Amino acid sequence: MTDSATVTRFAPSPTGNLHKGHAFAAFQAFHFARETEGRFLLRIEDIDFNRCDPEHTQQILDDLRWLGLDWEEPVRIQSEHLEDYQRAAESLRQQGLLYPCFCTRKEILREIENAGGAPHGSEGPVYPGTCRNLSEEERTEKMTAGADFALRLDLATALDRIGDLPPWFDTEKGEQTTRPELLGDAVIVRKDIGTSYHLAVVHDDGLQGITDIVRGDDLFEATHLHVVLQQLLGLPTPRYHHHALLTDRDGERLAKRNQSITLKSLREQGVTPEDLKKEWPG
Ligand SMILES: [Zn+2]
Repeated sequence: MTDSATVTRFAPSPTGNLHKGHAFAAFQAFHFARETEGRFLLRIEDIDFNRCDPEHTQQILDDLRWLGLDWEEPVRIQSEHLEDYQRAAESLRQQGLLYPCFCTRKEILREIENAGGAPHGSEGPVYPGTCRNLSEEERTEKMTAGADFALRLDLATALDRIGDLPPWFDTEKGEQTTRPELLGDAVIVRKDIGTSYHLAVVHDDGLQGITDIVRGDDLFEATHLHVVLQQLLGLPTPRYHHHALLTDRDGERLAKRNQSITLKSLREQGVTPEDLKKEWPG
């Protein structure tokens, strides 16, 4: 194996059973590794303990094997490495790149309304920066009073620190100018789980040496933030392959909330992986 070998991964969250859309996404990453004689890894992104259930993890492994995928062991289970993400957050905080945000969702929306609106990113309206300007005394006072807080990225300071922000490359859409302002001062450490999807995913992709990130279009915008985090954490920026999300006959995106059919139930009905592949675009 050479250093230039590609490494891809599929990184599902065990919030429920996999559905057809996941099968398509997993196969894209697996297939890319196969085509390039690279390596394929599996990662279980279960840091959101409010929504994830370890029982689903076993079902995910079974479903992926049924699809004909195989991967390197051990599988990285994010919930077993929370201290890694805490360490990464601490390093950002010590560099003065994070600030505590005490706002509730309601307060943020009210603030935006008062300001006459805010640009909208993939994660909702861009945070107006209310808590960025709190004094050290105000922060200490709130913390002493036991107020919950998230840690947000101070984007302006981060960009200052980075200097020239590199572009990133998407296989479908070509070179992309990195535009982290689309997400603004994103939450890097959530109040409830002590980390965030963004921090954990960037950390792990770096740790695992992922060279090619194959994932759905729904994360296209988040990539701008991920490039910033890679710069701040001293990690390389992989290539990105954002693929279209599989939709149902009405063009509706497949998701658990619209009860798209799970792989488990399809298997029980006698559907084969080959049947599924016939429905995939291209
Ligand atoms: Zn705030």
